Amino acid sequence: MNFSRPEQLQELESKSEFDLLIIGGGIVGSAALQMASSKGLDSILLEKNDFASGASSRSTKLLHGGIRYLPQLQFGLVKESLLEQKILVKLLGDLYKPLKLLAPIYKDDGFSDLPKIFQFNAVSSIAFKIGLTLYDFLGSRDKNQKHLNIDKSETKKLFPILKQEKLKKSFMFQDAQTDDAKLVVTLLRNAVEINNAKAINYMEIKDITKSSSKYKIKVLNTLNNRDHTLYATNIIAATGVHNLPGEYKEKSSKIKYSGGAHLVLRGDPLKINGHGILLPRTEDNRIMFVLPWFGNTIVGTTDTESFSGTLDRPFANNQDKEYLIRHVKKYFDIEDIEYISSWSGVRALIDNKLTSTKNVSRGHFFKNIDDKFIQISGGKLTGFRLIAKESLELLFDKKFDLERLSFTEEVLELSNQFSETDLEICFQHYCIAKPSDYMLRRTHLSWFNENGGKNEIRKIIGKFENKNIEKETLKELDDEGLLYKNN
Ligand SMILES: Cc1cc2nc3c(=O)[nH]c(=O)nc-3n(C[C@H](O)[C@H](O)[C@H](O)COP(=O)(O)OP(=O)(O)OC[C@H]3O[C@@H](n4cnc5c(N)ncnc54)[C@H](O)[C@@H]3O)c2cc1C
Repeated sequence: MNFSRPEQLQELESKSEFDLLIIGGGIVGSAALQMASSKGLDSILLEKNDFASGASSRSTKLLHGGIRYLPQLQFGLVKESLLEQKILVKLLGDLYKPLKLLAPIYKDDGFSDLPKIFQFNAVSSIAFKIGLTLYDFLGSRDKNQKHLNIDKSETKKLFPILKQEKLKKSFMFQDAQTDDAKLVVTLLRNAVEINNAKAINYMEIKDITKSSSKYKIKVLNTLNNRDHTLYATNIIAATGVHNLPGEYKEKSSKIKYSGGAHLVLRGDPLKINGHGILLPRTEDNRIMFVLPWFGNTIVGTTDTESFSGTLDRPFANNQDKEYLIRHVKKYFDIEDIEYISSWSGVRALIDNKLTSTKNVSRGHFFKNIDDKFIQISGGKLTGFRLIAKESLELLFDKKFDLERLSFTEEVLELSNQFSETDLEICFQHYCIAKPSDYMLRRTHLSWFNENGGKNEIRKIIGKFENKNIEKETLKELDDEGLLYKNN
């Protein structure tokens, strides 16, 4: 069956019982669906908005080895992340992109993530060197992947507008990037088209009740307001920052939020030439990234306890944007920074009242909600395979794993400019139901064009039946902070 919404909804008319229901179509739920269905479990994933519309399209896109957890002495988390990179490079095809990152060492500006004692000038570069050596060791890295020492003149050659004043030296180390939203829909396409699973967006779980050996699940199709009733023996709630629905709400994991904003700059104005840079110190004592992304540049992220917008649609506010621009200017010789777009996401962190969000571990946690019913929260994009695998192994008495993904080239070939052919492919194989699904999460049309790609809307909406679609799409782009105010 194609990964198309109408085809899957049609099947739901004659089928209402499943071995496994996964609530939430972010990276964790989607990976769990792919793994469960590859082992023959009759599985369905339902997502209340679009797939990947939560944190899983709003991340910094790094499949990182967790270098920032080294100073927190979380060696387990670092080792796990580094090992994960080795596994993912074999499974994700073109969706795994190795990336070299520069760590510049400045006088009087030691890396924020290092303990205070290692931030002093005399020891900061030695401390960083030891950290990177440990990083290479924990990741059992080959010679060509190990970090490099880069002197000041070499740094200038590679990054001509990175500020040189007070620069002592730099290190270059290996990490990786992905395209979070495209990874999610590729996992789902594999699950549906290869393993016969079901994954439907705009289907909100409204209530769950236990009846004998099965759960009865009330679902609302939010696009036509139609109710469905389904039955499932097992449930995995991969609901990100959201509480469980209905009567189970009170049993939800207790989490706290952390907002993170990014800017997209057109092309390569910071002359990073395909490499990433780790900016050592923000004014709130964090690190920040400048990264290449499909021919453009992304800058981020902030880490704030509050965020603007809603949990479903957060946006980068003016303060977030000014903060990001200020820090780019702190480290680059550039007068004006023009950005094309911005986004914001909300992380789910363990609620630990004693710690501020930036120091809370990004480790994931499971909660047993009921018999054969668990909730997963927290974690990192980098850990998605492990998190999904562990959750399935908690429910079922067998081993699970991710299979090598198909369709990775196809999803990356979808153009970021309007293409009628690509739009049709997205209807047939990427389950789009709204123009914004195509513009924001199957392609980067809204991120890479001014005004969220507003000028293309008329060409896109013709293919959708909903009469109010233009107004609704503009409202969505506005909620995401993508429409410039004077237009
Ligand atoms: C700003 C930011 C930067 C980050 N950068 C990185 C990074 O560079 N590298 C990294 O490894 N990690 C990063 N992360 C973390 C990573 O993005 C998240 O850990 C990951 O995306 C979480 O995926 P998830 O599937 O658990 O949640 P989500 O992607 O949030 O998915 C949960 C889904 O559940 C759905 N849902 C909730 N309730 C219901 C219901 N009742 N019915 C149906 N559906 C429901 C929601 O709509 C949502 O789509 C970042 C996170 C943020 C916010």
